[in-house]
Amino acid sequence: MMVGEPSTVQPFFYPTKLTWSRYMEHPNTHDAFHLIEQEELVSSATVFPGSTEAVVQVVKWANEYEVPIYPISMGRNLGDGGAAARVRGSTCLVEPGVFYYALYEKIQKRGHTHLWIDVPDLGGGSVLGNAVDRGVGYTPYGDHFGAHSGMEVVLPTGEVIRTGMGALPGNNTWQIFPYGFGPYADGIFTQSNYGIVTKLGMTLMPNPGGSEGFMCTFKEEEDLAQIIEVIRPLRVRNVLENVAQLKHVVQEVALLGKPRSAWYQGKDQIPIKVLREIASTLPCGDCSWVFYGSTYGPKEARQIKLKAIREAFETVPGARWIPRESLPKDHYFFSREKISSGVPEFEELRWLNWHPNGSHVFFGPVSAPRGLTVPLIARKWHDECDLDSFPACCVGLREMYLIVNMVYNRGDPVSKANAYRCMRGMIKDAAAEGFGEYRTHLLLQDQVAATYNWNNSSLLRFQELLKDTLDPNGILAPGRSGIWPKKYRGKGWELGAGDLESPSEGDEVSHKTLLIKEGSRL
Ligand SMILES: Cc1cc2nc3c(=O)[nH]c(=O)nc-3n(C[C@H](O)[C@H](O)[C@H](O)COP(=O)(O)OP(=O)(O)OC[C@H]3O[C@@H](n4cnc5c(N)ncnc54)[C@H](O)[C@@H]3O)c2cc1C
Repeated sequence: MMVGEPSTVQPFFYPTKLTWSRYMEHPNTHDAFHLIEQEELVSSATVFPGSTEAVVQVVKWANEYEVPIYPISMGRNLGDGGAAARVRGSTCLVEPGVFYYALYEKIQKRGHTHLWIDVPDLGGGSVLGNAVDRGVGYTPYGDHFGAHSGMEVVLPTGEVIRTGMGALPGNNTWQIFPYGFGPYADGIFTQSNYGIVTKLGMTLMPNPGGSEGFMCTFKEEEDLAQIIEVIRPLRVRNVLENVAQLKHVVQEVALLGKPRSAWYQGKDQIPIKVLREIASTLPCGDCSWVFYGSTYGPKEARQIKLKAIREAFETVPGARWIPRESLPKDHYFFSREKISSGVPEFEELRWLNWHPNGSHVFFGPVSAPRGLTVPLIARKWHDECDLDSFPACCVGLREMYLIVNMVYNRGDPVSKANAYRCMRGMIKDAAAEGFGEYRTHLLLQDQVAATYNWNNSSLLRFQELLKDTLDPNGILAPGRSGIWPKKYRGKGWELGAGDLESPSEGDEVSHKTLLIKEGSRL
């Protein structure tokens, strides 16, 4: 199977051995970071369309045979489902897309070095896949959906539309003015199953005159609420200009890349006392939290901002400003500094060594940048399930994401079951306190969607109405974000808060897949 050979289907013979070796060699057939039995979320074939026309062809074929398809770009959404399809046997539709490294290298090669891209922690994902999943990066252009301008979308019927100014023939503003005229459509193609995005305009940030990382540590775990109180006014006034990360010290230890067993043998959550003792031997010193930030602009402007930030941070007792010059050259700080100026990196993968067969799943509730309710819910459930908690607080602007990276051993059924149970518990308890996730793993999307249930779930009913109108045969990513097409709805496919075992496959739905002969071409 070759990319650019648009009409070819690469059959994936199930069941073969499902494997995953390295991040760069992830599968396009299933969730590499499986949270339940890995055979549960598997596609039956992978198609690599090389053009919009080829995507249209695949979509028409899927309608004809009523085969569910699931679009991915790079399929590296690891921790949120990767390349899995919610309906087993779906065809994964892969738009190879442009991954961050490729875009970065192309820009450098062409000599446009004054232009920055914006990257998430790992550079192996695609610009398009990340933006349509409403992912985040770490320069001032870190809201990837917010930084995009214009889309081309293949609708589930095969019709192609262009949004914003792209609908105006002959325009030269598609990639600079996102809204166009009339209702703004782009949002409905993110985290959704209403269309396959085949083109996406992304704005690039001109180098503002340089950037410079900084690092500050905070001593006590309980100081979190006070630290956030200090960050909030700096962020909303744009003194802190990007979405910086306040990481728990466990991440500082795990980023050394050694297994947990090198530090602690207990089966319970690794105690903060142990972590602080280890930290005392590292450049960060004895601490519970580490803030990795960046300032932007010409040197003089950066110095003024750094002074203001340092003074504010040092109002927290025990805060310690760590000069970048004092850090060894291989310290994670320098990777963070690069990411914050749009240079793709991989270092973040190091903490997956914490467990053998290291995988992870994200818990990403949104809250106001204030208080400790959500971190305490996460702590309670990690204790309950004997899991180490890897929290990082990211203050977006007026909102805060508590990103809890839960690392587990996907080779150990108990470790996986604990991680799954912990996720379900945190989502339930957070919703009871009025907190919802901004994004979640494919298996948990029904549960999260069901928490957004104001006015008798009127939003979900509206989304279902759109789904049934745009995708009458229900072929595109059934179940994505909890939106099931009529054909599947209420037939046992939905996974609720209490579903801790394998996902129900639901009732038989009328596919015409039997008509497709092995090896047939589109
Ligand atoms: C250690 C670690 C750290 C991470 N840090 C971050 C981070 O800082 N920020 C962040 O945002 N993410 C982060 N991630 C998650 C993930 O790596 C990124 O989001 C990645 O960029 C996903 O890109 P992708 O191209 O692989 O997405 P894909 O898996 O291809 O796509 C993501 C989702 O978007 C949808 N989609 C994809 N293509 C299309 C299309 N053409 N049309 C319609 N829908 C489509 C699909 O539903 C798919 O599930 C991290 C993951 C790991 C393992």
